[in-house]
Amino acid sequence: MTVNVQERHCEAPGCGKELPGRRRRFCSDLCRVRGQRAERVVDGSEFAQAAIRMVRALATRVGGSDIATFGALWELRAETDRAIAEAIDDLHAKGFSYTDLAAETGWTRQGMRQWHLRHGGQASDYDGSQAEDREEADV
Ligand SMILES: [Zn+2]
Repeated sequence: MTVNVQERHCEAPGCGKELPGRRRRFCSDLCRVRGQRAERVVDGSEFAQAAIRMVRALATRVGGSDIATFGALWELRAETDRAIAEAIDDLHAKGFSYTDLAAETGWTRQGMRQWHLRHGGQASDYDGSQAEDREEADV
């Protein structure tokens, strides 16, 4: 019995192969991982862009002499730093290194690590060059 006679194709970026048998969206486990990762990047990026627009709107309002809201804007800055430091802790727990994080931001690995530690993050043992980091931290 054929339920769906329409030809369906893999939704993973750059694949487009015909879907075999019972596959609904992706032709293989690898394509499923790639496709879901691509969707997450888009969703996360759009969410972040919306948050950035909100922060800019708030800053414009404060700059337009809404001094009463300045405290809220300042608290937002501190909360953002805390949240990022915690997100880095969580990413480390999932196996991502400072090198991985730096590649997403355009920062250096050392700069990323120092920012993280300055903002209360837990030191990570990844990247295998802690001796170098310790020297820089002592400066
Ligand atoms: Zn595929």
